[in-house]
Order: sequence, then structure tokens, then C-alpha cells
Amino acid sequence: MYFDYAATTPILKEALNDVKELADSFANPSSRYQQGFLVKEKIDAVRQNIASLIGASNMENIFFTSGATESNNTVIKGFFNKNWQKRHHYITSSIEHPSVLAPIRYLEKQDKITASYLKPSELANFEGLEQTIYKNRATFLSVMGVNNETGGIFPLRDIAQVAHKQNCFFHSDCTQAISKIDIDVEELNIDAITFSGHKIFSPKGIGILYLKNPSLVEPLLHGGGQEKGIRCGTENVFAILALGQAVEYLLSHRENIKSHYQKCKRYLFALLYKNQIPFHINEANSIDSIASIRFPFIKGDTLADLLDLKYQTMVSIGSACSSNKKEEKEKSILEDIGLNKSQIRQTVRISFGVDTMIEDIEVLVSNIRNIYETYGL
Ligand code: PMP
Repeated sequence: MYFDYAATTPILKEALNDVKELADSFANPSSRYQQGFLVKEKIDAVRQNIASLIGASNMENIFFTSGATESNNTVIKGFFNKNWQKRHHYITSSIEHPSVLAPIRYLEKQDKITASYLKPSELANFEGLEQTIYKNRATFLSVMGVNNETGGIFPLRDIAQVAHKQNCFFHSDCTQAISKIDIDVEELNIDAITFSGHKIFSPKGIGILYLKNPSLVEPLLHGGGQEKGIRCGTENVFAILALGQAVEYLLSHRENIKSHYQKCKRYLFALLYKNQIPFHINEANSIDSIASIRFPFIKGDTLADLLDLKYQTMVSIGSACSSNKKEEKEKSILEDIGLNKSQIRQTVRISFGVDTMIEDIEVLVSNIRNIYETYGL
């Protein structure tokens, strides 16, 4: 049983039914014959749907990449490269995904920029944030929409306002936010957002980059001029078309999906209470599809391993992305939201998807209960 949708999601069943149709659209969208034009049209239909999903009035501002990692690197390095003669100070939150933190650190280590890493509590103090931007004459601010480990929501509207007051470019990594909270890039006034297809029921290897003003960003990859030169390389047509199916589903089930996630989280908590399994919630202001909780009776990794080995039930103890990086593992983002070492060790992340069933949650809680009893906890 799968409860790690924040790490990745399965491909939507509806898209899988059409695999043959997707595979038949194999012509190169840059080709000059009709099949090529047809594929290009299909890609643009997906682009249009993505624009609708994020509130962009012009689909020309949407670019396909290979994933959120590439999208984040493109904005972060591309903003500097476009205007490398200028002095730049970047500000970001200390709990961003490594695909935001690492390129900023890279530019910083090369002495190209200076940077500030603010804790969530510092970002929530808008006056303090404004002062930090002002004092450092910051040119670039990057704050995620939703944190991947805790599900914590950042107030993007207010942060964008503070950034723009100081003429600072505002980027938000919305990989965990898309389809979980409403993201309207124009209403929120965000300069760039980035996300990945495989967190929203599409194949891996497809990413999205929205740029309000593409001329502010130098491309990372140079080549045949695809994606208006912002992302060269033949388009991943199969993944883009599958993403299109998922986005259509998300658009037409918007409200149902939101209430589904709410139901899942509430039911999980209610069942844990009912079974008298003590737990604490790490982040109160979080999206409904992620429950970052700690069980005081057992270490998170022990519980996750037992659930997997005994019951083939998959939960996570943090983000899958940092598990390859030793230094990231030791410096937990949970520390920056105020948890102590023992609370961090007790944490597990349970995340839901559109296909999570209420019965699955019952089995999950019963498995936790069994472990609780077997080990006399
Ligand atoms: N940002 C966030 C918040 C994420 O959760 C992830 C994936 N875990 C990424 C960026 C990177 O996405 P990808 O691995 O698809 O490039």
C-alpha cells in the first residue's frame, strides 16, 4: 500500500488507457509535415491547460523541461547569467528543496552572488523580510509554495508583495503546491514558478517552468531553439501528452480532489485517536495531502521499515530527494521549523493521492496498531 505521494505519484489510470494513442504521436514537433504540426498542436493544447491550471493568461509563458530540478536551475542560474555584470544578492528559505538550495550555493561559492537563507519564522516576519531585501539590495527571492517534508504552506501572496515593493524578482518552487492549494500566478503576482509532472500523476522526466517575463532568464541549454529557446532539445512528447491527461483530470475534478485530501487526513487523525495511538502533528498550517507526524513511542525509520517489511506499506521519514545526500540528511529541515533531534527521529511523512482509498487508511492504522502491540509500545 502506497502512502508516499509526496515523493512521486503513479501515472493516472486515464492516461495509461491512452498509451497507444500517446505513442502514436511520435513525430518530431519541429518537423515540417502534417504529423509534426499535429504533435505540436497537441503539445500546445497541454500548454494551454497548464496555463489554465496556474492562472496564466498566456500559454507562451509556459515552458517544458525535464523536471522541477531543471526548472529551478534554469531560473536560478539563468537570472544571474542574463545580467552577470550586475551585483546580485539572492534570498531563499532555509528549508527549500536541494534543487533550489544547491544552485544558489553553487553561484555563491563561485563568488558570483551573495545569499541569505532565512528560516520560515524569519520569512513570516514580513517587515524583517523587507528589511533583509532592502539592506542587501536583493535582486532575487525564492520561496517554495509548500514544503515537501512537512506540507507547510508559505504565504506566497504576501511574500510576492514584499519582494515587488523592493523591485526583487520572485520565484516559487510549487512542486508540492500544484493541485493542493490554489496557485494563480497572475493574482499572486509571481515572476516564475516551477514544478514536476511526476508529483501530479504524470510520468517522470517532465517539468514545467512558468516565466512572467522570459527575457529576464538566460537558457541553461543551448541548441535547436525548442521551447522558444528557453529549453532546447527535442520535446519529451510522450510525457507531455500524458501530463496533459493528468492536468485535464485535475482541472475537471479540482474541488473533489481538495475535499478528498481533507477527508483522508481527517480520517487518518481520527482513526489514530480512536485506536489510542499517541501522535503529534509537526506543522499545523499544512496541505491536506501530507501528514508529517511523530509517534513518541518509536523511531520514524524503524516504523517505516516495519511497515514496509511486514505489511508492504510505504511511508517516508522525509524527502526521498535528500536521502542520497549525506550532508542534507544530517541537517534536517525539521530542525529549522523548531523540532529537536528526538522529535525529528520520531517523524514519519504519510502522503495521499487522488486514488488513496479510505479503506487503505484503515489498513495503515491497523498496521501501526499491530506494530504498537507487537513491540509492547
Ligand atoms: N522541489 C520540490 C519541493 C520537490 O519536492 C521536488 C521533488 N521531490 C523537486 C523540487 C524536484 O523534482 P524533480 O526530482 O522531479 O526534479
